[in-house]
Amino acid sequence: MRLLVVEDDPDLRRQLTTALADAGYAVDAAKDGEEGHFLGDTEPYDAVVLDLGLPIIDGVSVLEKWRRAGRKMPVLILTARDRWSDKVAGFDAGADDYVAKPFHMEEVLARIRALLRRAAGHATSELSVGPVVLDTKSSRVSVDGMPVKLTSLEFRLLSYLMHHKGKVVSRTELVEHLYDQDFDRDSNTVEVFVGRLRKKLGVDVLHTIRGMGYTVTESDNAA
Ligand code: CA
Repeated sequence: MRLLVVEDDPDLRRQLTTALADAGYAVDAAKDGEEGHFLGDTEPYDAVVLDLGLPIIDGVSVLEKWRRAGRKMPVLILTARDRWSDKVAGFDAGADDYVAKPFHMEEVLARIRALLRRAAGHATSELSVGPVVLDTKSSRVSVDGMPVKLTSLEFRLLSYLMHHKGKVVSRTELVEHLYDQDFDRDSNTVEVFVGRLRKKLGVDVLHTIRGMGYTVTESDNAA
């Protein structure tokens, strides 16, 4: 899963970026509304954390522009504590949720998890496919109840596929959702990660659909 953080306060931007990266997401950051709008308009993010008080273009305008252009990714807005009118303007512009400043990082993480889950049509924080269970809360994976240790990229790969269970995800789409914009992207490495992940899981749930991409399903009829 790949996220965008748009926040002009450098300390807060760094804290958010670090906490989200530590939670296993690929994260891009923008420091003003113009840069944030451009990234959200051109890159396929799974969710966005958007501050409303931003230089150059304010957060509400950024959100309105995205929504007008048909960008549908879930957006969590950051608002000032006592500005109820900001929340209203934010929701009217197309926000999915909000957190008031100052916030606890755990709350932002929990709300992002909920947004990602809802966008993918899941109701709980645990995703499962056959014996494989991925806990989005603890970022842990188990097979038949036994924990499996994954690298952050392997986890991101599995998490993206499990959020889109049953759907065939192309290699290009995976690359776009696994790496941040500064990463030297090579779609051939995806095949390597898929191979490693399959080996670590040890069960037949991750399938390659020749010429199309990858999918996770319970049955092996997709292989
Ligand atoms: Ca601000």
